[in-house]
Amino acid sequence: MNQPPKVVVIGSLNMDLVVKARRAPKRGETVMGDEIHFIPGGKGANQAVGLARLGAEISMIGAVGSDSFGRELKRALKKTGVNITGVKEHDSQATGVASILLAEGDNSIVVVPGANALCLPEDLEDNERMIAEADLVLLQLEIPLATVEYGIQLAKKHGKIVMLNPAPAQSLSQELLSQVDYLTPNRSELALLAGMPEESSVAQGINRLLDTGVTCCVTTLGAEGAAFMEKEGSITKILGHQVPVVDTTGAGDAFNAGLAYALAQQKSIREAAEFAVEVSALAVTKFGAQGGMPRLREVEEHFT
Ligand code: ATP
Repeated sequence: MNQPPKVVVIGSLNMDLVVKARRAPKRGETVMGDEIHFIPGGKGANQAVGLARLGAEISMIGAVGSDSFGRELKRALKKTGVNITGVKEHDSQATGVASILLAEGDNSIVVVPGANALCLPEDLEDNERMIAEADLVLLQLEIPLATVEYGIQLAKKHGKIVMLNPAPAQSLSQELLSQVDYLTPNRSELALLAGMPEESSVAQGINRLLDTGVTCCVTTLGAEGAAFMEKEGSITKILGHQVPVVDTTGAGDAFNAGLAYALAQQKSIREAAEFAVEVSALAVTKFGAQGGMPRLREVEEHFT
């Protein structure tokens, strides 16, 4: 059997507190809710679980508080097979929390980064060996930007493939973008990074990002699938799969996990994007971000 690909995820861990209520409270009002769920989340942890489910050898670098949520998040990762020796516990900050209110078919979310803000460049130095042994390093933007920049720098120093999921959206310097091999914005992140209105074409947005020095840009397009372009290439679209949708939370995380898994195995960008569209299509047929991540066998059985 082939060696599993080795991926290091440098990113966030959050506990999602999902409250369901018939209606949202008005300012200053208290309403009674119907349900509460505590669901492990955070883009970093979600993508790490997605990769582990697919069979990658996966290590996570991140930070939680020394509290019950932090212990629960670490336990959830370890149970899926993620190496959590790079996840540091801090006394001075609580574990990151996303407070999500679902009411009247809408959601409103407050994210408190907590300990994620303490995931610092020195934590990467402590785990440099992990990075040196990986095939690919995957990052998102829910930890301090200085850590993301240093993570990319270390990955480059060791000649690793660098993949950045620029979520949540924020502007990034050309210096940072020019070191990224694979950039994976969704439609709105693409518009913000390219400094263009969302109505402008995907190809225009991607072209702008390629001009900054990114080697390849892969944009997710929701139910429509994804599109990618490499430097000096032309735009290639991968159509989305029609599936019975249950919950699209974490669709982007599943896509990134699938893409990283295939790229870490030296697959072509076309093969990797096709695989990522399959993985994310299956993920939206199940509830929950981490809970919805499919196993490799499920993907193979469904799409062959
Ligand atoms: P989220 O923030 O909800 O995680 P995102 O905005 O980062 O999502 P999307 O572009 O919405 O990412 O979706 C990522 C991928 O998931 C798409 O490229 C597609 O392959 C798959 N996907 C999303 N929604 C659907 C759907 N309704 N049907 C099939 N596939 C879907």
